Amino acid sequence: MQYLSRRSLNIAPYTAGEQPKERTYIKLNTNENPYPPSPRVQEVLRAFDAGTLRLYPRPDADGLREAIARAEGVKPQNVFCGNGSDEVLALSFPAFFDEGGLPACFANLTYSFYEVFASFFGVNTHIVPLLEDFSFDLSAMLAADCKGYYLCNPNAPTGIALPRETVEAFVSKAREKGRIVIADEAYMDFFGESAVPLTKSYDNLLVVKTFSKSYSLAGIRCGYAVGDTGLISALFRMKDCFNSYPVDAVCQAVCAAAVEDKDYREKTCTLVKTERERVRSELLSLGFTVPKSGANFLFAGRVILSGEELYSALKREGVLVRFWNKPILKDFLRITVGTPSENDALLEKLKEILR
Ligand SMILES: *Cc1c(COP(=O)(O)O)cnc(C)c1O
Repeated sequence: MQYLSRRSLNIAPYTAGEQPKERTYIKLNTNENPYPPSPRVQEVLRAFDAGTLRLYPRPDADGLREAIARAEGVKPQNVFCGNGSDEVLALSFPAFFDEGGLPACFANLTYSFYEVFASFFGVNTHIVPLLEDFSFDLSAMLAADCKGYYLCNPNAPTGIALPRETVEAFVSKAREKGRIVIADEAYMDFFGESAVPLTKSYDNLLVVKTFSKSYSLAGIRCGYAVGDTGLISALFRMKDCFNSYPVDAVCQAVCAAAVEDKDYREKTCTLVKTERERVRSELLSLGFTVPKSGANFLFAGRVILSGEELYSALKREGVLVRFWNKPILKDFLRITVGTPSENDALLEKLKEILR
């Protein structure tokens, strides 16, 4: 079509997991939390004065940033909020990487949005394959000639998590080389070794988190970054080139209430973690290869059926999981940990299918 730019003709966008409406599935495909958000979220929504929506929200989400800073043990000026952590990650590309310049380095199997953002912003990439056991090849990453790194920890879709000391050693070596590390901790609350405390000693570390997974708030769209004020102010400059008010007023109020209810988040994360271990051991006994996961999902495969066959059979049985028709990934499924009864249904269907 003649009216479109080369960019819109040529870009290959990210494909999100299905959100089907035609029937109800046991939905284990997009890593949503199976539990509702904190009861305080409902209270905030009930008490919310719609009259205030006449006004624009606070452009820099100040109240929310203060609440996040208190919860994370940092200062508000070390926090940046965006409309989902996807937006924060998107803004990080132009903030820290030059168009056509030294590449952004990340793994071949990791959050696939990094590749899309890099291509959209004209940032070169240096892709490093995972090792045989699906862990990051950190020494190959350090040896790459690049401007910085995207380190998804725990990694998606494998679920494998790096301990904080490993991340610290990596960040420290990256700093010696003058490189930034963007740690995407979308799933960190299911593992519990966040690199946020390291941001006080390492000005080359930006930690990105989201309300979508551990806070059960995927529907409201909020994510944030924690880091040195030099990094944070670059994100603010990028934001103000796109959208001065990315975090709406309802979202700011809801997320501030959620981040203050640490006990509730820990309680639901513990339920998910307990189920994760139970489902993993059941999958192992069915013959699946399942790396140890620090996230709210399991990466399972290498059985007699391909990922696609399993995915389709499960879908017919009303259970939705994530499948990618790509090298390596095609032998696996990514399965979100649900409630105990959802997980029981999954395991029962899998047993039938494999039999
Ligand atoms: C879910 C996810 C995000 C983004 O979440 P938002 O809903 O945009 O906050 C970022 N990184 C990874 C690895 C994710 O899985």
